[in-house]
Amino acid sequence: METKNKMNKESTCTDKDCSIHGKLKTRGRAFNGVVVSKHDKRIAIEFERMIYIGKYERYARSKSKMHARLPACMEKEVAVGDLVKIAECRPLSKTIHFVVVEKIKDAEELK
Ligand SMILES: [Zn+2]
Repeated sequence: METKNKMNKESTCTDKDCSIHGKLKTRGRAFNGVVVSKHDKRIAIEFERMIYIGKYERYARSKSKMHARLPACMEKEVAVGDLVKIAECRPLSKTIHFVVVEKIKDAEELK
């Protein structure tokens, strides 16, 4: 009975690796980035950051790419080109230790 009520409350998310409906806790760092590729339950985001180079005493632009778990409830909502927020969680696989927590902007809005 209880599990059925839970399902009805928030769409049909039964993903246990969902930070909102599941048991996955987020902690540590969070990043905003643009989705560059989408796979089954996983996305890759890319964002620009400034890196200080001591030799030249200047900052250089650098891009970082990160993989994040995409919960079932956001699978349809998030598409390539969208701006999303990811938060650190426990390691889910060798490359995934972040989970998508929210969609900030649609690809259309970013243009
Ligand atoms: Zn969910």
